[in-house]
Amino acid sequence: MAFLSIQGLTVSYGGKADVLRDVSLDVERGEVIGLIGPSGSGKSTILRTLVGLLKPRAGTVTVDGAKVDYGSRGSLRAARDRFAIVFQQYNLFQNMTALRNVAIAPTLVKKRNRAEVEREARDLLARVGLAEKVDAYPDELSGGQQQRVAIARALALKPDILLLDEVTAALDPELVGEVLDTIRALQRDGMTMLIVSHEMAFIREVASRVAFLDQGSVVETGPPAEMFDRPQSPRLKEFTSRIL
Ligand code: ADP
Ligand code: MG
Repeated sequence: MAFLSIQGLTVSYGGKADVLRDVSLDVERGEVIGLIGPSGSGKSTILRTLVGLLKPRAGTVTVDGAKVDYGSRGSLRAARDRFAIVFQQYNLFQNMTALRNVAIAPTLVKKRNRAEVEREARDLLARVGLAEKVDAYPDELSGGQQQRVAIARALALKPDILLLDEVTAALDPELVGEVLDTIRALQRDGMTMLIVSHEMAFIREVASRVAFLDQGSVVETGPPAEMFDRPQSPRLKEFTSRIL
């Protein structure tokens, strides 16, 4: 069985019509999956569901052979142990330094030793290229730097799988590159990731496979070169003709 196996995932918001329909996806350890598709096709909904922000109506998610239980509030901890998500809006705590932003969840939520967590947080900030900024407050950092702190904060929870939802979309163009560099480095280190992005050149470069969503369903999956250069389904053909 694949490292991450999503089978028949079906999700609706508050009992309305399903916005994800029978989504299945297998992801091997260390793979980077690019999730692409039109606005409203369900990309964010997949990531939100995996991390436990939405309860699936049907389907199963298995990580490393263990089924993730989305059934009850208490069991969501299991999802949070498996997945961490980074959003377009980084939402750092403004009254905390970069170091505290990264260390806060492991110390408060996981009740881990503060000195040890802060040591790890320093390492993580160095890993995203911010060793010099551990004591900076968010308003002293650029958008790209804040987003890299947000990535370090997600990694501090030691997820098996990192979920990135348009993490460069809110950044000024000149700040996008530094965040993409950080993601490239994570890929090289073997981090398993699901990435939603409109940076198609980047997806093409880092993704081992791409999944194309339309109207809540996975319509086509394949290696990026195949998907972008030789789309099979009419809907992917139409999508790539508009974006590339
Ligand atoms: P994408 O990320 O691909 O743009 P989303 O996953 O955000 O798409 O949205 C998928 C569908 O779910 C859309 O039809 C959207 O309108 C709907 N949707 C998203 N968020 C909510 C919400 N909080 N309540 C109701 N419907 C939502
Ligand atoms: Mg979205």
